[in-house]
Order: sequence, then C-alpha cells, then structure tokens
Amino acid sequence: MKIISKAKLFQKTLEGERRKGHSIGFIPTMGALHAGHLALVRAAKKQNSITAVSLFVNPTQFGPHEDFKKYPRDLKRDAALLRRAGVDYLFCPAVDEIYPKGEVFQVRVSDSSFLTQSLCGRFRPGHFDGVAMVVAKLFALTGACRAYFGAKDYQQTVVIKKLVRDMFFSIQVIVCPTVRDKDGMALSSRNQYLSPGERKQAVKISQVLFALKRSWSRAKRLPFSLELVKKQAVRNLEQAGLRVQYFEAVDPETLAPLRESQSKILVATACFAGKTRLIDNVILCVPRGETRVQKKTREK
Ligand code: AMP
Repeated sequence: MKIISKAKLFQKTLEGERRKGHSIGFIPTMGALHAGHLALVRAAKKQNSITAVSLFVNPTQFGPHEDFKKYPRDLKRDAALLRRAGVDYLFCPAVDEIYPKGEVFQVRVSDSSFLTQSLCGRFRPGHFDGVAMVVAKLFALTGACRAYFGAKDYQQTVVIKKLVRDMFFSIQVIVCPTVRDKDGMALSSRNQYLSPGERKQAVKISQVLFALKRSWSRAKRLPFSLELVKKQAVRNLEQAGLRVQYFEAVDPETLAPLRESQSKILVATACFAGKTRLIDNVILCVPRGETRVQKKTREK
C-alpha cells in the first residue's frame, strides 16, 4: 500500500491508474477505523481493480463546540488495517494540503433545502457544508471512480448523491449497509468515547429502531400510527438514560416530510449517551397499495 500525503500526487497517481485501464474504488474516512470502514473497503475491492482510501479529519465539518480536537487519531494502526485489507493507496493529507491558505471558493448546501433543514442538519449548522466541501475536493482529486459510503450516516449519503448530481462529478456513489456490533449497536469511531455504562444505554438506540421496524412490518393490515410509535420510542430511549436530540420519520430520497404516497420511510435518530452524540436509522418499506402513511398524516 502506498501512502500519499500530497493532493496533486494523489490525483496524478489515480489518473495514471485509470490510464492503465484500472477502475477505482474510493472510500473517504476520518480514520479511527473499524469493521464498518473495512466493509466499505471489501465492497470497493470486489467491484474495482484499485482501491484508494482517504484518511482526513475534516475540520470544516465540526462545529465550534464539537470534538474536532479530541477526535481519535491513530494513523499507524489505521494504515496497518488498510494494508492488511489490501488497499492500494492511502491518502492522508495535512489540513493545509486540503485547505491551502488564501483559498476563496467554498461549497455550500442551500439553507432552504431539506438536506440541511432536517435530521442532523437542524442541529449541526454548517456540518453538511463542511462534508460537501471536503468530498467535492476529494472527488476532484480522485476523478472518475466508484465512491463508497455507509448507510449509518444516511443524511450524508443523500447530500453526497445530490452533490454529485448538481456538480456533474463523474462518480458513482455506492451506499453499503450499516455494520453493527453483535448486540445491534451501529459501529462508530465515536463509540470509543463511551464508558461501559453509556455503552449499555447506547444499545437501546438500535433496539428501539429495530423494534419499530418489527412492529411496522407486523402491523400489515392493522391500523398503525407512526406518530404514536415514535412517541413510545422516544420514551424508551429516555428511560434508558439517553438524551434524544431528534427522532424523525422522513422521505428517504429527499429527507422532506412524509407524503401520502410514500413507498419507503426513513426513521432516523440522534441521541446523546453522556456527552457522546450517536446516530442510527432504519428504513421502513410500505407494501404496494397500503396507505399507512396516509393514516399517520391524518392523525397529525
Ligand atoms: P467516518 O470515518 O466516520 O467519516 O466514516 C467514513 C465512512 O464510513 C462513511 O461513509 C461512513 O458512513 C462509513 N461508516 C461509518 N460507520 C459505519 C458502519 N457502522 N457501517 C458502515 N459504514 C460505516
């Protein structure tokens, strides 16, 4: 595995690989790698002849009171994991390599978009601007490739798909399923902040989401109120000692409020276990011809 820290060299190297006829799978990460990241690497290796990973803790996506400084960093460990996983290139630039002094252009997500107004966007102003900005820069460096993202950060995948469409990037975005611990908890680099007690509380997030999914699919022909179930879910999370920042059901394509003719529903939540903010989500499918969303809309 070749480690590259210079942006232009990374760009030239991948250009060279493409010229040789190779297809490129690219996985952007912030490091502190776990099995979720490695699943993205495996997916990329299956579909491409060259796999490149970026490791960059992107300052512009952290709010002023968020954990940029204390975000876990261990390049040696991460590089060893990626080498073992068969990655060809690891791009790990310094901050001023990605954001050189004197730069004047920025990428912004419209404030009036549901991409920024719903879910995490409401509580992390500027976060998706930072994500879009760094991902746009990374895509400009990788050039045409398949880029792999995890469904755990669901809103991020919607933002990036839209970024690719709006900016005509030659990138195929591939979303891979969330990798979970045995007890169902979504893997996250931030899980390492949790004390044993907080980890016990945190498992409730996936439990509540999966219970909601089960009752949704059991409810087939029964009246089913999503609003009531959401309220119950929030109560359960709070009873476990978590602070619920949001628990929302939205359109998975646009993140807009649910419409009557919804074929899928995204249920997503952000909760604090102590000081650690954790996110997770599930998708509910509405069988053809069912009108359960309609019922929910009428109850509002
Ligand atoms: P991060 O390093 O947290 O920025 O994540 C890098 C990529 O890994 C993003 O596309 C995440 O969505 C993805 N990822 C993080 N956790 C998981 C997980 N548990 N399962 C699948 N993908 C994940």
